[in-house]
Amino acid sequence: MSTQRGVFDDALARASAHALEWLESVPTRPVAPRHRADALLDGFAKPLPEHPTDPAVVIDELAALAEPGLMAMGSGRFFGWVIGGTLPAALGADWLVSAWDQNAGMRFATPATAAAEEAAAGWLLDLLGLPPGADVGFTTGATMANFVGLAAGRQHVLDLAGWDLAADGLAGAPRIRVFVGAERHDVIDLTLRYLGLGAPTVVDVDDQGRIRAEALAEAMDRSGGAEGPAIVCLQAGNLHSGAFDPMNDATQVAHDRGAWVHVDGAFGLWAAASPLYRAELAGLELADSWATDAHKTLNVPYDCGMAIVARPEIVRATFGVHTSYLVTDDPGPGDPFEKVPELSRRARGVPVWAALRSLGRSGVVDLVERLALRARELADGIALIPGAEVLNEVVFTQVSVSFGDDDRTRRVTQALLADGTAWMSGSRWHDRDVLRISVSNWSTDADDVAQSLAALERAVASV
Ligand SMILES: *Cc1c(COP(=O)(O)O)cnc(C)c1O
Repeated sequence: MSTQRGVFDDALARASAHALEWLESVPTRPVAPRHRADALLDGFAKPLPEHPTDPAVVIDELAALAEPGLMAMGSGRFFGWVIGGTLPAALGADWLVSAWDQNAGMRFATPATAAAEEAAAGWLLDLLGLPPGADVGFTTGATMANFVGLAAGRQHVLDLAGWDLAADGLAGAPRIRVFVGAERHDVIDLTLRYLGLGAPTVVDVDDQGRIRAEALAEAMDRSGGAEGPAIVCLQAGNLHSGAFDPMNDATQVAHDRGAWVHVDGAFGLWAAASPLYRAELAGLELADSWATDAHKTLNVPYDCGMAIVARPEIVRATFGVHTSYLVTDDPGPGDPFEKVPELSRRARGVPVWAALRSLGRSGVVDLVERLALRARELADGIALIPGAEVLNEVVFTQVSVSFGDDDRTRRVTQALLADGTAWMSGSRWHDRDVLRISVSNWSTDADDVAQSLAALERAVASV
């Protein structure tokens, strides 16, 4: 019988070689994939072989089939959607997470990953200035982290209304009023659908997409004020402008009316780690729950989000499962499975520990501030391109640009993507087509900014 090492050696050595080859190619390869999914499918979807294949051969074949269809999302010139790259320590840790293959739900069963995730959670709360006793659950991303925070809110406001959600479900429950800003991320509506809460009441925002606290007060008062259960969902980091909702004022309005306050800070919550930006988020710590991503600003590999809930007993009442075969560690910091929707999951918080351990406090601050600085540099350079107009106040990592009418903006976007030097997303903001830039990759440097600006100038000149 071969040793485990002998069994895994070849496949892991081949995977490591292909991974390094890929990573080496990222800074210089065109950012966009060369082939579309339909074309790649021909290679992948051969008839299922009748017999086994050597693992190392499978890995070689996989790397060769995938290569023409990979987007260089880790490139310093990838500015699409809001997508981070991966820090070396986080990637190494992610490989170990797969090799260890821990089902990370229980402290008793997988103490090493539970302890690493708890340590990462503590560092996170400290960096972001959030309540030290909050529960942190590691989710697939901010969508599920928002789901967790809003689910805890649903639990809490129905508790207060004297309704037993676990026993009686939602049918016949008091209606929960949910208030969101007009420019919340669409996944907020999605998670409200998951939660059976229906469509939210949309509150007016200012010209940068920040919720107006007075408009929130008016909307809440119009629908009954402090009467009946309510949830307010705020945003730290607007997709198009980067702007932050006025946390202090809006939270005050919501709490005065008995509402639960949740903050979607998928990328923007990290601004709280920087003394330069912390003031923009004054009052952040007063909310009841927060969602953020590690796979965006923190630059860990996909996938990882964090759901933070100030009152652990509420999130555990929502997601805890109590059966004889799950050995819990009560009382204590709670089991990982009590804080997220999944029972079985990978130890996706371990790369967060490694990322934070490698950056240190100053490294996190530097990362956040550098992303914002590069966004500022891009915006300043774009403002000098004839016909280009930066539409937002560049307060963080996001820049929205118009090149005239919608048609011209779309043609510039297409020309830029065809050029291959950089990748930026087309979007719509305030009834205009825009080219949207998100600086979220730790490796974006001054040279990437210069190359991307030159590519944009070429694209503008070509239309
Ligand atoms: C990215 C993003 C989300 C969704 O996060 P996922 O990690 O993709 O699930 C939600 N809200 C905001 C503001 C985002 O930027």
